[in-house]
Amino acid sequence: MDFQTLPIHTTAQYLLNDSRQLSSPQRSIFFAIKGLHHDGHQFLEDLYRKGVREFVVEENALSSKIQKVLSHFQDAKVWKVENSILAMQEVAKSHRELFTLPVISVTGSNGKTIVKEWLAQLLSNRFKVVKSPKSYNSQIGVPLSVWQINESHNLGIFEVGVSKPNEMENLERVVQPTIGIFTNIGTAHNEFFKDNTQKIREKIKLFKNAKTFIYCADYTEIDEIVEEELRAINPECKIISWGRVAETAIRADWEVEIDNTKVSLALQNVSPETERFPTTFDIPFTDEASIENAIHCILTLWHLGYNSTDIQARLQTLRPVSMRLEMKQGINGNYLIDDTYNNDLAGLTIALNFLGQQKQRPQKVLILSDLLETGIPEKELYKQIAHLVRERQLSLFIGIGDVISRNKAYFSASSVKPSAEVKFFKNTQEFLESSMPKQLHNSSILIKGARKYGFEQIVNRLVQKTHGTILEINLDAITNNLNYYRDKIGQQVKMMVMVKAFAYGAGSTEVANLLQFHGVDYLAVAYTDEGVALRQNGVYLPIMVMNPSPNDFEQLLAYSLEPEIYSLRMLKEFSEYIDNRNLSSKIHLKIDTGMHRLGFEQDDLPTLLDYLQSNPNLWVSTIFSHLAAADESVYDDFTLHQVSIFTEMANQISEALGYVPSRHLANSAGIARFPEARLDMVRLGIGLYGVAAQEEDQVNLQMVGTLKTVISQIKHIKSSDTVGYGRKGALSRDTKTATIAIGYADGFDRRFSRGVGEVLINGTRCKVVGNVCMDMTMVDVTDVPHVQEGEEVIVFNKELTIIELAKKINTIPYEILTSVSERVKRVFYQL
Ligand SMILES: *Cc1c(COP(=O)(O)O)cnc(C)c1O
Repeated sequence: MDFQTLPIHTTAQYLLNDSRQLSSPQRSIFFAIKGLHHDGHQFLEDLYRKGVREFVVEENALSSKIQKVLSHFQDAKVWKVENSILAMQEVAKSHRELFTLPVISVTGSNGKTIVKEWLAQLLSNRFKVVKSPKSYNSQIGVPLSVWQINESHNLGIFEVGVSKPNEMENLERVVQPTIGIFTNIGTAHNEFFKDNTQKIREKIKLFKNAKTFIYCADYTEIDEIVEEELRAINPECKIISWGRVAETAIRADWEVEIDNTKVSLALQNVSPETERFPTTFDIPFTDEASIENAIHCILTLWHLGYNSTDIQARLQTLRPVSMRLEMKQGINGNYLIDDTYNNDLAGLTIALNFLGQQKQRPQKVLILSDLLETGIPEKELYKQIAHLVRERQLSLFIGIGDVISRNKAYFSASSVKPSAEVKFFKNTQEFLESSMPKQLHNSSILIKGARKYGFEQIVNRLVQKTHGTILEINLDAITNNLNYYRDKIGQQVKMMVMVKAFAYGAGSTEVANLLQFHGVDYLAVAYTDEGVALRQNGVYLPIMVMNPSPNDFEQLLAYSLEPEIYSLRMLKEFSEYIDNRNLSSKIHLKIDTGMHRLGFEQDDLPTLLDYLQSNPNLWVSTIFSHLAAADESVYDDFTLHQVSIFTEMANQISEALGYVPSRHLANSAGIARFPEARLDMVRLGIGLYGVAAQEEDQVNLQMVGTLKTVISQIKHIKSSDTVGYGRKGALSRDTKTATIAIGYADGFDRRFSRGVGEVLINGTRCKVVGNVCMDMTMVDVTDVPHVQEGEEVIVFNKELTIIELAKKINTIPYEILTSVSERVKRVFYQL
């Protein structure tokens, strides 16, 4: 095999950077990327075997092993580059240069995706739009987005983000925006930029060749850099700036009404444009972020030639953007994947990938409506969809709508999967009235429909009912946190993740499934039945059980679970059990180095080692211990002492065994604070769920859970009255209370009673009044504007964190998380 000469000329239709997302081998080019915790080059062989024939590899990653793999590639094209991400950008840039269409590009700290989605909704009546899928705004997301452009499009809308200096210049070349929007700048800490100014300077480079630039001058730091820099590097650019406060070309003002906002815009300098200049608008949102996003959209439409009447008419069609792909528990053992996102091909591909990644249920079902406004001719579109569907090995495909039904020929059953079924319905009603909903069981079901098909009715029919209180789990946050710790430990150290106690309350099978997808090395649970539940839900990773009991040894072995052995008594019991059955098993030895909870002590070693030497059917897979105070710097000497006792004892054991089991000691705090304790493997727990042992890690972690409930009733109560049991809620003023649908039985601790606890309603903190009841709690909403029954209440999220809640009642975040009762339904989402 000889390397191809550069530049890369690919004939592929798909740019692939994640081997797990392979769908059309013959039509894909794979970019192998060597990252900190992941090396795409490891998958070259596998992809070749599956039929991929175009590869881009990185010079530095070509170990002799990889070179050997490549040398067996026949009839494949391989390009060798310095950096595969840059190479992918280069390929996308050449593609972009084939087209002359106008391109709107959006950057900023918040609102990028919403502005992009809204512009696509608003402009769809006059343009054939191609846009970034979801929040594809990264170094890889941007080239993937631009790669979608084809002859049928006459407008591109792409969002762009940067996380480090010197990333924007390349992305600018990939996107080549003609119209730029800078939404805003937040205050969020970013480890790679020294300050906001540096970040804005980087972002503004996206617009160095734009013909038009729109921004809000109330962000004074942006305003200054536009004045100083953008005008200098791009003097021809037409700059449209607006502000509510800033003295600038366009003055904005607004008044919030009950569920809409009246926005007025006024040009400060009279110019020929005054004629068509928009004046007042009604927008169907009331929060500041939406108002800001809407003004950016209004000004873009105005710039593109829409008049006030057109703009107003389009604004009325705006819908909140849900980019979330949600996974919920359905009835009859189903999992529902609810994707209310715009139904386009790119979104469908992403959702199908997510479906494919769910191993909890072997049966996969897709319920799909017609796809609207894709800009692709009908026959071609359904041919492509049928192709996508065929590759995913579904067991059942359900098409709903006139258009998809009249293209059913493309979806013949045999072409979907040999044993698959294919069904079509004219509309959602016909599906709901059929016997189909009852037949669905033990499946992962992807429900994906354009808005007008009302697929929420299907979700409502198939979902397990909630009582208004749900715990939302952000799968992207889990991935972020996992990667943060993986970067810390490097590639040499393995990762065991603790999913005991229902994965710290987050939902064990779903979290485990995600961890499995990301290739962690080991999982650990406290009890055997937790491990069994994982196995029954498609988890095949090795699982350590920390506290198995003789009663469940049979299950333990039947499900290939690996016991922790922490005492001589247990060792004997387990060993006799497997001897009697002529079996052998891996075990994990727990050493007590100072925690004094479970584990062998120094004095036990002679007996332990004797026993192990005469029982070779027990294979010591790992030796481990647990740190008692890794998060408390006052005990650092103690922790270091634990590390040295552990090393000492592990050495003794290895010597006696004649082989060297791997060693692990560090929990989350240990990983962060004691690099010397990372050894062969670490055991990540609370850090995965977003709580760090030290401040400097906390900013890089994301909170995983949002606990939400609803207001059941609102009451106006005189100051002379009291609220709740025992008349404990005394009032200091006439008070408006909301009764919310969560109590101590759901995990809202009774210690939050009488003003200790707070919840968030419409962004306002509301104190608990009186005692928390079993299923309900009363809170003070006197100061919340526009509060209504049925409204959402946040118990904890990334603003009102479990860390803060724990402090209020003098406990630790672990307890807040794991207390959320199983009666509260979990909803998993990713963006
Ligand atoms: C729970 C647990 C961990 C994880 O601890 P965190 O503090 O949540 O990181 C690690 N090891 C053992 C033995 C545990 O029981």
